[in-house]
Amino acid sequence: METVKNYIGGVWKESISGKTEDVIGPADGSVIGVVTDSVPADAEEAIAAAKKSFYTDRTWRDMAAVDRAAILFKVADLIDANAHDLAVTDTLDNGKPLREAEGDVADAAACFRYYAGLIDKPEGGIYDTNRGFGEMFNMTIKEPVGVCAQITPWNYPLLMSCWKLAPCLAAGNSLVFKPSSKAPLSTAKLFRLFEEAGVPAGTANLVLGSGSNVGNVFAESEDVDMITFTGSTRVGQGIARAAAGNLKKVGLELGGKSPVVIFDDADLEAAVEWVMLGIFFNAGQVCSATSRLIIQDGIHDAFIKRLAERASHITIGPGMENPDLGPVVSEDQMNKILGYIKAGIDEGAKLVCGGKRYTENGCDKGYYIEPTVFDNCTPDMKIVKEEIFGPVLSVLTFHTEQEAIDLANDTEYGLAGAVLTKDGARALRVTKELRAGITWINCDQPTYCQAPWGGYKKSGVGRELSIHGLDEYQETKQININLHPEAPVGWYEH
Ligand code: NAP
Ligand code: MG
Repeated sequence: METVKNYIGGVWKESISGKTEDVIGPADGSVIGVVTDSVPADAEEAIAAAKKSFYTDRTWRDMAAVDRAAILFKVADLIDANAHDLAVTDTLDNGKPLREAEGDVADAAACFRYYAGLIDKPEGGIYDTNRGFGEMFNMTIKEPVGVCAQITPWNYPLLMSCWKLAPCLAAGNSLVFKPSSKAPLSTAKLFRLFEEAGVPAGTANLVLGSGSNVGNVFAESEDVDMITFTGSTRVGQGIARAAAGNLKKVGLELGGKSPVVIFDDADLEAAVEWVMLGIFFNAGQVCSATSRLIIQDGIHDAFIKRLAERASHITIGPGMENPDLGPVVSEDQMNKILGYIKAGIDEGAKLVCGGKRYTENGCDKGYYIEPTVFDNCTPDMKIVKEEIFGPVLSVLTFHTEQEAIDLANDTEYGLAGAVLTKDGARALRVTKELRAGITWINCDQPTYCQAPWGGYKKSGVGRELSIHGLDEYQETKQININLHPEAPVGWYEH
């Protein structure tokens, strides 16, 4: 297998360590690729290339916005042209069903198109500041932040890369990028497309390797002006601490333990389907997964009965066979999830369905977990408090609206939340009380690049996607213009 290389200063090259790392496919544990295994010196070389690109060459930064846009539209077209290959790559690397990977690729192209279209429509302001110094005109302009470092997780390998790369490039920054070592292959292919589309050498630099060897260097570097990270809260906290050294700008998209609140009057059949989407999509490895079902006592029994029935018919298998549920990303992750399931049983939650590794139909070598539902949960249980990041749902029951709100907000996270009820005023009332950045009424999970994405509390800092996402990668500068350029009068005459 050919080793997938770093892309630094416009050159594809192996790590100076000479070492490589196998990429494992979770469908059967086989080696599906080999990537170069970078060391801190490679990360430093990439940062130097990005710095030279931004501060010395200035090609991308100074390029007319319409020309930058044309290149990013080309990237989107190339993603479409390579859609099948990119989707298969993510399915093999991450494990997700092929149709989910195909959706990710379509969203990735849409994200590049959205930001390409946004570049030449800057949001400046003009302010009336006339007071004390004569007639002034004050306006703001937006500028790129400079050298950005970006680190992504493995759950949406290509799409998470695009959510970061598209606005960062659109704003005119230069960057260094580290994908998760658990699923790096589609991002490496995306960088090939950057080269083909004409993104200038040195603008976007790819470094393949571990968080401790590469990510850490990004976070600590004095030459990095901004770091954006998607991943776990624990690692995000470390990045925020490291970033304090030069007070680089920080964007963090972190974990979650999001609630879906269902009232007695909700449409039962529709609610079951939304709940399944909220916890079984991508095998529950979704930051915004609604992993806590908070359900009113009147509908509880009928709902759980139907959910267990539907979950028992979920098909499980390799992503390439397009089952309902693919494997989880790695053996480690599988064992971690099985550990949570054991904790749920030990703590006395009632196992309604699932609860085991799935090894039937030739799945014994892969990392499959049955769709799992725990009923009779209490707020102090580990499976209610901690992010499991697998197909495991914990169910809590409430009687009054206020109880539902209190349970929903009883978490250190604040990424997302859903409310299902036919009572429109109540839906809005409860949603307004949720301490979360992404909320859904009578649905669960739909996500669009036109709307802002991010969390409250320990789920993150800042927003991705939408106009807000572009703004994160820009500095705002105010310019004061004296319309009567004479000396100030009356200040030093006393
Ligand atoms: P993770 O373990 O935090 O890793 C995320 C990335 O950080 C990987 O590329 C990892 O590299 C790197 N990393 C690890 N240690 C580092 C360090 N000390 N310094 C710098 N970088 C370091 O998370 P994950 O397991 O990949 O992803 C799952 C988590 O991501 C979940 O908590 C999920 O909720 C969150 N997530 C959030 C969002 C959102 O939008 N809010 C979206 C998706 C996922 P290596 O693993 O290659 O060593
Ligand atoms: Mg993998």
